[in-house]
Amino acid sequence: MAKYVYLFKEANASMRNLLGGKGANLAEMTNLGMPVPQGFTVSTEACTQYYKDGGRINEEIITQIYDALHKTEKIVNKTFGDNENPFLVSVRSGARASMPGMMDTILNLGLNDDAVEGLAKQTNNPRFAYDSYRRFITMFSDVVMEINKSNFEAIFDAKKKEKNVEQDTDLTAEDLKEIVESFKAKYEEIKGEPFPQDPKEQLILAVEAVFRSWDNPRANYYRRINNIPYEWGTAVNVQSMVFGNMGEDSGTGVAFTRNPSTGENVFYGEYLFNAQGEDVVAGIRTPKPISELEKDNPEVYKQFREISTKLEHHYKDMQDMEFTIEKGKLYMLQTRNGKRTAQAALKIAIDMVKEGLITEKEAILKVDPKQLDALLHPTFNPTALEKAEIIAKGLNASPGAATGRTVFSAERAAEMAKDGKPVILVRQETSPEDIEGMAVAAGVLTSRGGMTSHAAVVARGMGTCCVAGAGSVKVNEEEKYFEVNGKKFYEGDYISLDGTTGNIYGKKVETQDATVSGNFATLMEWADKYRALKVRTNADNPRDAKVAYEFGAQGIGLCRTEHMFFEGDRIMAMREMIVSKTVEERKNALAKILPMQKEDFVGLYEAMQGYPVTIRYLDPPLHEFLPTEDEDIKELANDMNISFDELKATVESLHETNPMLGHRGVRLSITYPEIAIMQTTAVIEAAIEVNKKGGKVVPEIMIPLVSEIKELKYIKDVVVKTADEIIKKAGVDLEYSVGTMIEIPRAAILAEEIAKEAEFFSFGTNDLTQMTFGFSRDDAGTFLSDYYDKNIFDVDPFAHVDKKGVGTLMKWAVENGRKVRKDMKMGICGEHGGDPDSIDFCHNIGLSYVSCSPFRVPIARLAAAQANIRNPRK
Ligand code: PEP
Ligand code: MG
Repeated sequence: MAKYVYLFKEANASMRNLLGGKGANLAEMTNLGMPVPQGFTVSTEACTQYYKDGGRINEEIITQIYDALHKTEKIVNKTFGDNENPFLVSVRSGARASMPGMMDTILNLGLNDDAVEGLAKQTNNPRFAYDSYRRFITMFSDVVMEINKSNFEAIFDAKKKEKNVEQDTDLTAEDLKEIVESFKAKYEEIKGEPFPQDPKEQLILAVEAVFRSWDNPRANYYRRINNIPYEWGTAVNVQSMVFGNMGEDSGTGVAFTRNPSTGENVFYGEYLFNAQGEDVVAGIRTPKPISELEKDNPEVYKQFREISTKLEHHYKDMQDMEFTIEKGKLYMLQTRNGKRTAQAALKIAIDMVKEGLITEKEAILKVDPKQLDALLHPTFNPTALEKAEIIAKGLNASPGAATGRTVFSAERAAEMAKDGKPVILVRQETSPEDIEGMAVAAGVLTSRGGMTSHAAVVARGMGTCCVAGAGSVKVNEEEKYFEVNGKKFYEGDYISLDGTTGNIYGKKVETQDATVSGNFATLMEWADKYRALKVRTNADNPRDAKVAYEFGAQGIGLCRTEHMFFEGDRIMAMREMIVSKTVEERKNALAKILPMQKEDFVGLYEAMQGYPVTIRYLDPPLHEFLPTEDEDIKELANDMNISFDELKATVESLHETNPMLGHRGVRLSITYPEIAIMQTTAVIEAAIEVNKKGGKVVPEIMIPLVSEIKELKYIKDVVVKTADEIIKKAGVDLEYSVGTMIEIPRAAILAEEIAKEAEFFSFGTNDLTQMTFGFSRDDAGTFLSDYYDKNIFDVDPFAHVDKKGVGTLMKWAVENGRKVRKDMKMGICGEHGGDPDSIDFCHNIGLSYVSCSPFRVPIARLAAAQANIRNPRK
């Protein structure tokens, strides 16, 4: 028979997966001989079983719960539902990872009309007994029965008014007794049945409510953004109650072994006398700083300090503890590794190494790479943020905090940003034409598109805050407003975006600049010592490349050359090239682009100072470069001296039904090899120029969207012929390589064959994900939310590599490619290259490097180190 329920004394900290963090730590503290009110944990497997059984707790689990309950009754020498010496418990959820959004706590469970009398007699304190009962009815009704708390608060407040008292504590036992009667009547009125009097029934209903809360929308959302699998399930902890509300010698509080916001090594926390847990968080009474406990009760304080120090040493991490003092006796209710700000995380990790508590490797594993984001972008002032109302939510596409005036087109963004005041560009979705507007905007908001939509990718590259795919924001670009929940925001109205959470606020929220402290540099240095993966960046211009270099990038893994064609007057030359009727005309247009392209590459090579630079040849379908509106077509036709009809016909002829599966990538160079010739000329001439001045450039030419070796061979021959001629003519030596992206499943499957021509691989996991799932990367965001809601997907496959499908293709391609070229350089340049979970996977399958947007470089360095510490490369 499977075991679903564990007494605290039967378990330990290593059972976290089975018992959740809270349960495993309660067991561990019990083993360490600490004063823990005893109880038991219903395992995460029971939760999984609950869902398998169609949302009910089966008899076997119920039997085990009752069995554990009886054993606990014996330990504490009290009886459940007894009217002399009643046993009361708290019921709390506890998953493997701490998860806000789930059901939290029910206190005083086990009370009923008899037990409350028993409690009154036993404690000789009827006021306390009825106060506990009214709290229990409220909590149980709220979290188990989903009856809004306000129903009970209204009754409570009315009584205070009637009695003309200010403080809860001024109500007498009699008052509370009456309140309890009214609460029960209210419960019956709403539920149509009396408040459950059987403590065992109360317990099972509460356990069920915890299991149910694993699947509520808030929990699902939290899991998705934190990459926590649904399968994990939650555990439930049932613990005997101790009371902080038994008088002035009782109290309750929370404490941290170090300051969680600064990381300073000082004992930190607060507590309230004569109170139960929820009073501390509810903010009705102001808690005292923990330091005052030393004066109030020096003995308890000393004991608590001893315990907390022992716990910090035991777990080798800063602890966040909950405690209760019952009639002068200390009890530990919980301990866990405390949540902390990014600054604190760095300080604590580094201080602990200095203190000899942990090693450098352990310190590296302690910092969540994603947290570093906060150190690299401006943030909101936390006080200002608390007061701001969230009007809508989108995808947290690019981190940072932005506040500014709403604007609906790239041109207006550029105009309005001239006065130096920030703007936020709001679009249905962005396109390459919006680049300039995006570059000047403090933030970008789109109503459509996913994590790899244009807006998301480009904004991340720029380090600009972006919230994408906010479906509830209805954007009217024509009339320059957006509407959300019936409220309209016009051009010039202030809004704020939190790119880290995806929250959108309908007003100005004050921001503060990020600071990079010395600890940050130290941790990065350590990370570099321990990682095997190299970290490169995706950058298309010298400015981004320099930022990435400063952040520690070891080269460029992807330069999307098409982005270079949108700047200044290049777009004109590009359009000329596209509408050319003959090869000659096309060559003429390309000749205009060549010097600009060459200049770009010189800038990139210089910014990278000898590190490798991978240049990816033109990739998007050509129509993306052409105007769509008649007005714009007219203007362009004029400029180009051709008729409107002719240009319009060309634009229409380039229309494709499925452009992402259409004439793009290598296919363009197959049709127009002149493009590859021009790009090769620019790549090679720029390298020669930089090397003449002492540079050491070894360009890497990357061909996109290859699916067939003959495609690659055809274009590689063109590239090599062009390059070798230029090198020969210049009379220099120049090494270069020609490789391919692996971004079509067929290319991954045929990696062994393709490696015969390709000198390196770079996984384009944006397209590889798109084509493996058959999900449009630009549209999937709109329906993937249904997949999350229905628990078909836990997370966005465009944000975290789908290890099962896409990952299998990658692994296959690595193994088979290296059969042909043993030490073949292999990287990843899709958006996943900056995602810690995907980086761990890339490390494990043996990639040489990951490439990500500049602002993710430090994150990737840390994630790569963690991967190698967890699973060292031979
Ligand atoms: C990819 O497909 O993963 C990739 C990096 O190329 P792009 O995003 O430019 O299509
Ligand atoms: Mg691609």
